[in-house]
Amino acid sequence: MEAEILAVGTEILLGDILNTNAQYLSKQLASLGIDVHFQTVVGDNEKRLTEAVNLAFSRADLIITSGGLGPTEDDLTKETCTRYFGEPLVEDQKAMEMMEEFFQGLKRTMTDNNKKQAMVPRGCTVMYNENGTAPGIIQEGKGKILMMFPGPPRELIPMFETYAKPYLAAKQDQIFVSRVLRISKVGESEVEHLLQDIIDRQTNPTIATYVKRFEVIIRLTAKAKNEQEANRLIDPVAEEIHERLGINLYAEGETSVAEVVSKMLLERKETIAVAESLTGGMVASALVDYPGISASFLEGAVTYSNEAKMRRLGVKEETLQKYGAVSAQTAAEMAIGIAKTSGAGIGLSTTGIAGPGGGSAEKPVGTVYLGLWYHGKVKTKLVPLVGNRERIRIRAMEAAFDWLRRTMLREEAPQGEEEKANG
Ligand code: ATP
Repeated sequence: MEAEILAVGTEILLGDILNTNAQYLSKQLASLGIDVHFQTVVGDNEKRLTEAVNLAFSRADLIITSGGLGPTEDDLTKETCTRYFGEPLVEDQKAMEMMEEFFQGLKRTMTDNNKKQAMVPRGCTVMYNENGTAPGIIQEGKGKILMMFPGPPRELIPMFETYAKPYLAAKQDQIFVSRVLRISKVGESEVEHLLQDIIDRQTNPTIATYVKRFEVIIRLTAKAKNEQEANRLIDPVAEEIHERLGINLYAEGETSVAEVVSKMLLERKETIAVAESLTGGMVASALVDYPGISASFLEGAVTYSNEAKMRRLGVKEETLQKYGAVSAQTAAEMAIGIAKTSGAGIGLSTTGIAGPGGGSAEKPVGTVYLGLWYHGKVKTKLVPLVGNRERIRIRAMEAAFDWLRRTMLREEAPQGEEEKANG
């Protein structure tokens, strides 16, 4: 089946909003084994929308639209797209009742304009909207399928999951299932080198590697009759990759190293406090993103000035003078200071030069030191980073989490530490 995604909305053409619906829909269709050959965007203009729809019907079997199902004059998607099938619009009672309830819930009165939203092409499948007013529509005829969704992603996504996905899956005899494996610290070419023979013999699942921010992602994609069978094909290959990459493979699926570490901290009943300079609270914030982390995360201090590093963390003035705020010695004293004053078992610190100014020949922009107090021992790590201020700060945060993750895992299975323990 070949599909075309048609996003309707002048807001998208003006650059006011990003067409995330097309991204979501393309991803979903790919996993269903449906080829997307075109993504089109057209404004709220009847003539141009008609042209876009006719073109889409001339070259695709499945047309999925998003946006323009609202109650106002410029919401013309439904009326325009359905014309191809020649069915009249009729009122859908359930959609009307749901809309009345929706307005009662909001304590607002429904206008006649809204009633237009409950009008659907005769004989279509209605996708009821639990999160808004406009119902979605699936219409079939003349060998084509048309699916129309409201624009807001929080309405479109649940509707796609509930109605469209099973509808389309039933038409496909094969589906695609993907699993991602996330790798930290090892570059893409090294990953490919380590997996070369597995990559060379790939057929089903296929293996693709790509770089995303500080990590390398391996995507395994299997083609099968159902999800279970696809997972049976993926499992042994994933296992082999796990064995090859060891500690460098930090997780499967949609997650982050901060999330993985937060989970580990809770599982191990660890307590942590963080002292941050260049990351300015990013480490603390990433911890707080994880629900329930209060059992582990005791405190975060953003100690940006030398004064704060001394007063709050007890970093020695002579350390700052002799080695500078961005140094292994300062990072170590920061980690010790935050752990001791908070009573946490783990103290993690960051200090570095995020740029654009402030670099020197000895310590260029991107020089980052991390400090880690781990149950009575302190160690530091120099992380040389490149990029702009934002990237350096994010990468420093991610490097801090990854280093802590590796430390926690090595406690379990001690093996060649490459970082220096400072006593
Ligand atoms: P409503 O019933 O809420 O009026 P609608 O179907 O008429 O929905 P639009 O008016 O086109 O949808 O868009 C409503 C909002 O949905 C936009 O302001 C935007 O926030 C979001 N939206 C629309 N299209 C997209 C898109 N392609 N990607 C991401 N968000 C979108």
